[in-house]
Amino acid sequence: MEIEKSFGISEVPKSTVDEFISGADASMTRGKKQALGDLENEFKKCMMCGLSQSRTQVVFGSGNPDADLMFVGEAPGFDEDQQGQPFVGLAGQLLTKIIQAMKLKREDVYIANCLKCRPPSNRSPLPSEIATCKPILMKQIEIIRPTVICALGKFAAQTLLQTDEPISRLRGRFFDWNGIQIMPTFHPAYLLRNPADKKLVWEDVQKIMKVLGLL
Ligand code: SF4
Repeated sequence: MEIEKSFGISEVPKSTVDEFISGADASMTRGKKQALGDLENEFKKCMMCGLSQSRTQVVFGSGNPDADLMFVGEAPGFDEDQQGQPFVGLAGQLLTKIIQAMKLKREDVYIANCLKCRPPSNRSPLPSEIATCKPILMKQIEIIRPTVICALGKFAAQTLLQTDEPISRLRGRFFDWNGIQIMPTFHPAYLLRNPADKKLVWEDVQKIMKVLGLL
């Protein structure tokens, strides 16, 4: 209950990780892992946009190559740029709590960002940067082929759904996207500034859990 309480929820879902990952095909997982590894190698020295000049390293993404659930955020921040892993700062710690509240582990899901390189001073991504980097994300999604993508925040939701609608209007409902269900919700960094909205994110997350058979 500590995890759920710290995330601001009281209802504990009855589900298990085993249910979530049952039936995984080991050879398919190996193939996806290889494909993701090849893609990461191809772009780990990417110079396609100006962010290549200021980043420390490309933050490709991490997690289960055969995940049923993928989280897509905005861009690496300071900690991610230093460590080369997505969502490892304060917002990342909150995302981990959300994942654990779903009775999952980070290793069960796949986590990536729209941009693979940190914008200077954590400024918002430019449309040109998102357009340039988007094919890498598309390829990741194509390889993983999750059942659900949880789009974290405005940039992820607008990038995937190709819309200018604000996240406050997009969140909380599924969008079918080439057979994958996309659920936009607030970014964990937003929740750090607006903890009262954790309840809304928990509502969104529970809808994902229902689709994945976790509730
Ligand atoms: S943000 Fe994307 S397109 Fe730009 S340099 Fe990094 S990996 Fe390449």
